[in-house]
Amino acid sequence: MSVAKSLLAGRIVEDALFPYPRLREKDREVLGMMLEAIDQFLAPHHQDFRRWDRDAAQPAEFIQGLRDLGLFGLIIPEEFGGLGLSNAGYARVLSQSSMHDSSASLTFGAHSSIGMKGILLFGTAEQRARYLPKLAGGEMIAAFCLTESGAGSDAASIRTRAEKNADGTWTLNGEKIWITNGGIADLYTVFARTESDAGKITAFLVEARWPGVSHGPHEDKMGIRASSTTTVSFVDVKVPPQNVLDVEGKGFKVAMAILNNGRTGLGGGAVGGMKTLIALATQQAQVRKQFGEPIAQYGLIREKIAQMTIDCFAAESVVWMVAHYIDSGREDYSMEAAISKVYASEAVQRSAYEALQIAAGNGFMRDFPYEQASRDCRILTIFEGTNEVLRLYIALSGLKDLGKSLGELKVAVDEIFNHPIKGFGVLADYAEKRLSHATGVGRDKIVGKIPPALREATAIYEKYTMELAKASDFLLRKYGRSIAGRQHALKRVADISIDLFVGLCVLSRATTLAAAPGDAGTQAVGIAQTFAQQAKRRMANHVRRLTRNEDEEMDQLAGFVLEQGRYPWDVLG
Ligand SMILES: Cc1cc2nc3c(=O)[nH]c(=O)nc-3n(C[C@H](O)[C@H](O)[C@H](O)COP(=O)(O)OP(=O)(O)OC[C@H]3O[C@@H](n4cnc5c(N)ncnc54)[C@H](O)[C@@H]3O)c2cc1C
Repeated sequence: MSVAKSLLAGRIVEDALFPYPRLREKDREVLGMMLEAIDQFLAPHHQDFRRWDRDAAQPAEFIQGLRDLGLFGLIIPEEFGGLGLSNAGYARVLSQSSMHDSSASLTFGAHSSIGMKGILLFGTAEQRARYLPKLAGGEMIAAFCLTESGAGSDAASIRTRAEKNADGTWTLNGEKIWITNGGIADLYTVFARTESDAGKITAFLVEARWPGVSHGPHEDKMGIRASSTTTVSFVDVKVPPQNVLDVEGKGFKVAMAILNNGRTGLGGGAVGGMKTLIALATQQAQVRKQFGEPIAQYGLIREKIAQMTIDCFAAESVVWMVAHYIDSGREDYSMEAAISKVYASEAVQRSAYEALQIAAGNGFMRDFPYEQASRDCRILTIFEGTNEVLRLYIALSGLKDLGKSLGELKVAVDEIFNHPIKGFGVLADYAEKRLSHATGVGRDKIVGKIPPALREATAIYEKYTMELAKASDFLLRKYGRSIAGRQHALKRVADISIDLFVGLCVLSRATTLAAAPGDAGTQAVGIAQTFAQQAKRRMANHVRRLTRNEDEEMDQLAGFVLEQGRYPWDVLG
C-alpha cells in the first residue's frame, strides 16, 4: 500500500519516508550548469516579462531562447537528445525558472509535464524514435488536450469523437478548450471518445500540421497571460493507427497517469514562486519604515515572513519526496502526488497574499511584482485537477484501498460495508495493534535517528495517524459505500491526510538537516516543530468536526440561497 494510503490504516511506512532522499549525482551535475544558465538567460528579461504579461504574448525569439537552453528536453532520455533529468531534477529546474516568470516556466513545463509525457510513459519504440528527438530540441512543442466546454473536472464526459475507419485509420472530430501551448504546439496528445468493448476513451498523438487541425486566438486571461492558451479544433482529422497512444479504450487511464506523473512539475514551480515572494517580502520589510521603525520589527510582519518560510519548506519537502517516489519506481504514488499539488498550490497563494499585504499600497500597484505574482499563481488550484476534486480523490482513493489491502482483515472490512454494526471498531483495533507492535514511527528503526528535539513532533504524527485510522473506520462504518457522497467528511479525511503526509516529509527532511552545520539545521528543526504544532491544531479540529459540525445547517443554507439566486437580506428592510 502506498505511504499516504497506509496512514488511513494507522501505519507510518518509515522506510519510505526516512532518510530524506537526496537528488541523484547525475542530476546535480546537470543542474549545476543549468540553473546558472537559466538565471543568466531569464534575469535580463524581467522588464520584458511585465510587458509580455500586459500584452498577453510571448515572442518567438524568447521561445527560441528556451529551446537553445535545452529546456524542452529536460526529462527526455539522452539517447533521444534530451538531458535525461529525473522528476526531482526536473522539478528543481521549474522551481528555478518560476523564480523569474510563471509564463516562461509554463511554456516548457506544460510541454514536458503533460504535453509529451504520454510518449515517455506509454509510447511505442517507434513513437519514441519518431517524436522524442524533435520534442527534445523543441523543434516540436507539445500540448495536452483533454478539457472541453462541457467536460472540465468530469473529464470522462468528453465529446470529441474518433471513429475507426475500414483501413485502420481514425477520423477525429471535436473541440478542446483552454489548452496550454495550444497556439504554439506542433504535437497534441488528444483524448477522444471511441466507445467500444475495449473502453470509452482513447489517447491519440495528433500533429498540428495535419489537415483539419486548427487553434483559436490567445485567451485573454487573469494570470500567466503570456503563456499560450487556446482552443484546439479537429475537423475530420485523419489519424494513422500508429498514432494511438497506449491501446484503444485505455485513454482515461493514460490521461490520469500523465496528470499524476506531472504534478511535481507544478509543485516545483510553486516552490520557486514562493522563494521569490519570500525574497521580495524580506527586502520590503527591511526597507519600509513606519512609526520610525522598519516594519520588519513588527510582530505581525515577522509572523507573515515566518509562515511563508514554513509553507515553502513544507511544500519543498513534500514535492521532492513525491518526485523521489516517482523516480524510484514506486507504482502507486497518486495520492501523494495529489497531496503535493494541493499543498504547494495553496501555500504559494497564501504567500502571494501575505507578500502583497506586507508591501500594502505598493503591493497593489502594477509597478511592483506582487499583483502579477498573485494573478499568476491563481491558476495552480484550478488546472491539472481542481483542489476540490483532488481532495475528494485523496480521501476516496485512501478509503477505497484501505479495505482492499488489509489482507487478513479483508473479510472484516467487507463486513463494514455489508453489516455496519458487526464491523464496528475493526480498523481502529487494527491500527492500535500495529502501533503497539512497534510498527509506528519512532518506535522502530528510526528512533535513534530522530533528534530529541523532534520527538514531540513525531508523537503528534503517531497520534493523528491513529486518529485518521479511527476516523476512516468511523466513516466507513457510518456511511458504507455512500461515503462517496459525503463531501464534507471526505474533505476532513483529505485534510488530515495532507497534514500527516506533508508533516512526515518535513520531519524526515528536518531530521536529515539537523546534522547540518550552522543555523540552517537548527532552524529546520524549528520549522518541523512549529509545523507539527500547527498541523496538530488543524487535525484536532478536523477530527472533532467529524462528529460535531454544522454540515447540515450549511447545506440547508446553501439550498436556500441557491433557490433565491441572491443574498436576500438588506438593512433597509
Ligand atoms: C489557464 C488554463 C490552462 C489550462 N490548460 C489545460 C491544458 O493544457 N489541457 C487541458 O486539457 N486542460 C487545461 N485547462 C483546463 C483545466 O484543467 C480545467 O479548467 C479544470 O480541470 C477544471 O475544469 P472547469 O474549469 O471546467 O471547472 P468545473 O469542472 O466546471 O468545476 C467548477 C467548480 O466545481 C468544482 N467541482 C467540480 N466537480 C465537483 C465535484 N464532483 N465535487 C465538488 N466540487 C466539484 C470544481 O472544483 C470547481 O470549483 C486549463 C485551464 C486554464 C484556466
